[in-house]
Amino acid sequence: MIVPDSITPMIGWRAWSRVSKDLLLQPLAMGQSDSWPHREPATARCHQCGSHQVPAMNNPYGLYAFKSAYLLSKEVHWNDALVFGQVWLWGAVLICGEERYCPLAREQINPKEDEADEDSVKGYRAEFAYPKALICSDEGLVPKLAAAYGVECIKGSFQYMIQKLVNKRLKTLKEVNPQHG
Ligand SMILES: [Zn+2]
Repeated sequence: MIVPDSITPMIGWRAWSRVSKDLLLQPLAMGQSDSWPHREPATARCHQCGSHQVPAMNNPYGLYAFKSAYLLSKEVHWNDALVFGQVWLWGAVLICGEERYCPLAREQINPKEDEADEDSVKGYRAEFAYPKALICSDEGLVPKLAAAYGVECIKGSFQYMIQKLVNKRLKTLKEVNPQHG
């Protein structure tokens, strides 16, 4: 499903592997090699021809984000992520579940395991995006990123934050279904 022109920005979770010397966030994945600019939206483009709107169903490009931090944690190697956080997504937005060319669609989500994903949406591929809030494991970069992007940035490691989220989720499930404990 494509939301042709999402007026209300959607919110997703994603990670970046590096920060350039001029403090630009650098994506993890291939096909997303453009760095994210300050004070203006990251804009999707086709890395093969650059001459049509992205996202498109028949090619893999666009600005990816997962629906939740938990889903992000299942796809991203913890050690690869220097910065992660929430992003705003708007413009044309491809809702990623089972669609072709969507790396978010590799695994089915069991609705009983994750209430937030009972509609099997795993994430989004958008035309425009901007960081909403950032979490960075490098303390020295935290205030610099906050100033450069003009958004909240806190210190935290990806591994620690995700474990907290996963532990919280598992604890909640145990409370609901004691036989799982
Ligand atoms: Zn193209």
